[in-house]
Amino acid sequence: MIHIKENKCDFCGTCVAVCPVDAIEMAEADLKIIHETCIDCDICVWVCPIDVLESRVNPEEEEVASD
Ligand code: SF4
Ligand code: SF4
Repeated sequence: MIHIKENKCDFCGTCVAVCPVDAIEMAEADLKIIHETCIDCDICVWVCPIDVLESRVNPEEEEVASD
């Protein structure tokens, strides 16, 4: 599942352009992942120039294990 880090996106549109299934919606100052459509390919995570998106196996998973 793709997680959007709060207040980091600059709405460049790169992730929207590369998503193969159009699962990212960008409106004015608002970015949204359509989780029902997303196939978890992680392409958007790789292309974001400022590291806004991250892939989480479990949405409940927060910064827990680090070692
Ligand atoms: S993980 Fe893949 S399918 Fe999901 S929003 Fe990102 S680019 Fe689209
Ligand atoms: S590529 Fe990154 S900065 Fe650009 S719109 Fe997507 S999440 Fe925002």
